[in-house]
Amino acid sequence: EIRIFPCLSDNYGYLIHDPATKATASIDAPEASPVIKALEQEGWTLTDILITHHHADHVGGVAELKKKYGCRVVAPHDKAKPIADVDLRVKEGDTVKVGSLTARVFETPGHTLDHVSYMFDSEKALFAADTLFSIGCGRVFEGDYPMMWNSLLKLRALPDDTRVYCGHEYTAANVKFALGIEPDNAALKARAEEVPRQRAANTPTIPTLLGEEKKANVFLRADVPAVAAH
Ligand code: ZN
Ligand code: FE
Repeated sequence: EIRIFPCLSDNYGYLIHDPATKATASIDAPEASPVIKALEQEGWTLTDILITHHHADHVGGVAELKKKYGCRVVAPHDKAKPIADVDLRVKEGDTVKVGSLTARVFETPGHTLDHVSYMFDSEKALFAADTLFSIGCGRVFEGDYPMMWNSLLKLRALPDDTRVYCGHEYTAANVKFALGIEPDNAALKARAEEVPRQRAANTPTIPTLLGEEKKANVFLRADVPAVAAH
């Protein structure tokens, strides 16, 4: 079971819960209070935090949550930018258990050098944080563009029926940008109609299906000649 809720100004918080063992993980922790509120609403107890990268808007709530729940904190292997309170470091090819659920770890550097994404194959759920957004990708701060492209290719290789849970609600602005590059892309135009309706209703545009992103997200289409030409 996956829950999504807003944090800070435009971040998303996520809980993934395993009914069999009652284990619950928070994917990142932008701030503690909305995570605690979501847990209390469900009657769940936090057992794990899976961190994607060191940015403050992804780890800001970790210390308080760890103090309150004594949960395990899992973070990327790359320690160049320190993350506090870490119990377990993970790298490419590792798996992380949340109760009986298993996540595969992909190193997806570019936005930051330490960025990892977590894929729960049995749930068809990809937590891509600030690597892959709906109709966008993370800004390249620490890596370089070939590195980011390589990370996006890794995620693009996952099955079309994968649900993408990303770090921010940036979809409306991303759609505007993408339409400037592919004004005739039918999948993108459909998304351009859907997104304003979702935002007007205060509904998250997340998750999206990876198969739809492959058709509409210019950053997953940079090897299409017409897109590359832009
Ligand atoms: Zn970030
Ligand atoms: Fe972020």
